Amino acid sequence: MHDRRPNILFVMADDHAAHAIGAYGSRINRTPGIDRIAVEGIRLDACFCTNSLCSPSRAAILAGTYNHINGVTSNSPDFDARQPTFVSLLHDAGYQTHLTGKWHLGHGGIHDPVGFDRWSILPDHGRYHDSEFLEPGGTTVVRSGYTTDVITDVAIDWLKERDRSRPFCALVQHKAPHRSWEPAARHADLYEHDEIAEPPTLRDDYEGRAAPAREATMRIADDLTEEDLKAFLPPDLVGDAALRWNYQRYIKDYLRCVAALDENVARLLDYLDDDGIASSTVVVYTSDQGFFLGDHGWYDKRWMYEESLRMPMLVRYPREIRAGSSSEAIVLNVDFGPTFLDLAGVDVPGFMQGRSFRPILRGEQPADWRTSMYYRYWVHWDVAHHVWAHYGVRTDRYKLVYYYAEPCGQPGAHEAPRTPAWELFDLEKDPLELRSVYEDAAYRDVVRELTTELARLQEELADTDCAPVRDVIS
Ligand code: CA
Repeated sequence: MHDRRPNILFVMADDHAAHAIGAYGSRINRTPGIDRIAVEGIRLDACFCTNSLCSPSRAAILAGTYNHINGVTSNSPDFDARQPTFVSLLHDAGYQTHLTGKWHLGHGGIHDPVGFDRWSILPDHGRYHDSEFLEPGGTTVVRSGYTTDVITDVAIDWLKERDRSRPFCALVQHKAPHRSWEPAARHADLYEHDEIAEPPTLRDDYEGRAAPAREATMRIADDLTEEDLKAFLPPDLVGDAALRWNYQRYIKDYLRCVAALDENVARLLDYLDDDGIASSTVVVYTSDQGFFLGDHGWYDKRWMYEESLRMPMLVRYPREIRAGSSSEAIVLNVDFGPTFLDLAGVDVPGFMQGRSFRPILRGEQPADWRTSMYYRYWVHWDVAHHVWAHYGVRTDRYKLVYYYAEPCGQPGAHEAPRTPAWELFDLEKDPLELRSVYEDAAYRDVVRELTTELARLQEELADTDCAPVRDVIS
């Protein structure tokens, strides 16, 4: 009998913010290749990560669990790949499985990918050009070329060789556009004569928020290195002129890396067309988290602020998804695994904490769908970024954040504790999150409700071992 289960082609970028994608209304670039997935499928407008950092988000996606469960609370410790993942469960159910590109969950021993028929991964972040790839059995191969192109080549080669009698699940996980933002040679001059629009909060002075925002060392103005900028700041540029120069250098290289991603997504979609499997394949485009593109004066991620919290999530599956649709339902990285299993007709195991959003893809949001989400960034005051550990809750309108100021055993924390701090944002009145209303008497009831909801989420998700909010409010 012909196997009607869909193929799953999961394309994940690294640090690609939704606001640098045309389908999400980018003001700074065009992405026709990626946008094709939205035009022919669905755009999810409230897809969030549960911890805005590379390894933790990847672990949450694979295992369908929050980081206190899967163990990857920061970029170290590494992932124990013996725990079941949506990939290993699909493999057990007869899917052919493949992974190429960035893994970033450790390697060697228990950290090597499990459940893949074939894998070829970058060591940690790998390189943008002529990168090494690690393969089973401790083998290392160097593949010449631009890594975004190479990863796609490897994936397409595998697709050509696959067993056509069975469905596949292929993970194509790019390095781009992660720091240090090195473009392909063909894009070196892209935007050369353009002035890229600045975000409205590039000159954020951090007034109106608690102490942490102004302490972070991830500023476009001060903290990018010569390696990041590939040039020395002209000595005659100071103050705002230096900020403008840094921003343009930074954002152009970032967008050049995105341009190569976009071409390669288009190439994969063309392959599906040529192979005749476009209608039977679920195509996903996402990123492990969002990113600050000069927003709040920053690069990087980590924060629960919108730009780094939001993940792009575009899905095409013509058998079930209406072309050009969108949804405001809150979906999370921990939901990805359950969703793919559901689409494949595989039972979602009870240990997974996410929930399948397959009905939402079909335009049928369940009445009991979540109305709030829990976030936790674990690393307190790491040497490079000086971001405070924090957790919080977001609803469609509000966001409550607590900077708990404890290292909680996290490696990298080097200065603590400080005085804990709260922030509350009314996203309807203040979508740029410039003015915390936590102390505003008019929001007293909102603070009370959201604090209770935060405690409820921590109990429900069993994240109660380190600085739980119940100890603060009791
Ligand atoms: Ca990342």
